[in-house]
Amino acid sequence: MNNEAPRSIPILDVRPEIEAIWDELMSAIQKVVRDGQFIMGPNVKSFEEEVATYLGVRHAIAVNSGTDALVIGLRALGVGPGDEVITTPLTFFATAEAVHSVGATPVFVDIDPESFNIDVSQVEAAITERTKAIIPVHLYGRPCEMDTLLSIARKYHLNVVEDAAQAFGAMLRGQKVGTFGDVAALSFFPSKNLGGFGDGGMIVTNRDEVADVARALRVHGSRRKYYNELVGYNSRLDEIQAAILRVKLPRLDASNDGRRRVAAWYNELLQDVRGVKVSIPNEDVHHVYHQYTIRITGVNRDLVQARLRDRGISTMVYYPVPLHKLAVYSGRNLHLPHSETAAAQVLSLPIWPQMTRETVETVVTALREALDDAQLGND
Ligand SMILES: *Cc1c(COP(=O)(O)O)cnc(C)c1O
Repeated sequence: MNNEAPRSIPILDVRPEIEAIWDELMSAIQKVVRDGQFIMGPNVKSFEEEVATYLGVRHAIAVNSGTDALVIGLRALGVGPGDEVITTPLTFFATAEAVHSVGATPVFVDIDPESFNIDVSQVEAAITERTKAIIPVHLYGRPCEMDTLLSIARKYHLNVVEDAAQAFGAMLRGQKVGTFGDVAALSFFPSKNLGGFGDGGMIVTNRDEVADVARALRVHGSRRKYYNELVGYNSRLDEIQAAILRVKLPRLDASNDGRRRVAAWYNELLQDVRGVKVSIPNEDVHHVYHQYTIRITGVNRDLVQARLRDRGISTMVYYPVPLHKLAVYSGRNLHLPHSETAAAQVLSLPIWPQMTRETVETVVTALREALDDAQLGND
């Protein structure tokens, strides 16, 4: 085995974007430091208004993380102990963890193998008299099929909380994700499509009373300082993060277009590669490719990933264990075949908005070689 990687391609390179707007970022950060207001200042307020305008929603409430946006969003909707919340097992653990955090129980419904998102046709069968909400996750930046979900939610009087952590800017039939449900959660974790220089998140909603409770919950449950009405959280976005995110928000669409261009190159170059299955959404779906994820079929995915690593190509598996198979759920004994197969086959390839066609070609060439090696059992 050759231990020297001739080239090294990361899964994500955030530096080109930062370099391109360096001066603007630095002056925004410096202004916050000079002004000396670091918590709940003018940048947080403006950023909330700018996100609300971008999405076309009434309320955007900045919080500490995408996880907290889910927790506070669920609490503000009144989801709590004894309630069940239906969601997908192919997601980051935070989706289900937020449900536990409010005292409720997640109920997992298998995925649609084509989109990797929750199979809306199986949701109705999972509803019980305890069901209070559904959390669709727009996984990898690809919008879920919302129409069916919303009509099921209406029929059974359920809340819909969109986990849009990976899909800021994605659209379904021209409508932005995060605007379909009762509440949506955004994340500004550095690797997300709109990433800060630390943790951050946002709750979005059109419902005034939900926004009012969420605003109180993020500051220890008080509408008026020191007059606490609820037991809440300390979950604020700080001014420096808000200032950084305000510089980046006007470039989100261009940045997502960059990801879409890279994805189109992969789709073209991978379409006849044996052992690779790509999934291309139809025109209704404006996928923003937080991840570019393929399936490795016929050969062992982990072996292909290892052979890519030997060639200096970083890839990731989102997610190697579907949630219902995690140790925390060992008592449940659920079998959700499409999620389990996906967890064994998925591989996310390098993608970032400024990635060049040449770099995409390098990855594809290395992938072809890695597939050949894995097929032959070389190591
Ligand atoms: C990133 C992510 C979260 C959590 O966001 P944080 O800001 O890291 O707390 C939740 N759900 C999904 C699907 C995510 O990808």
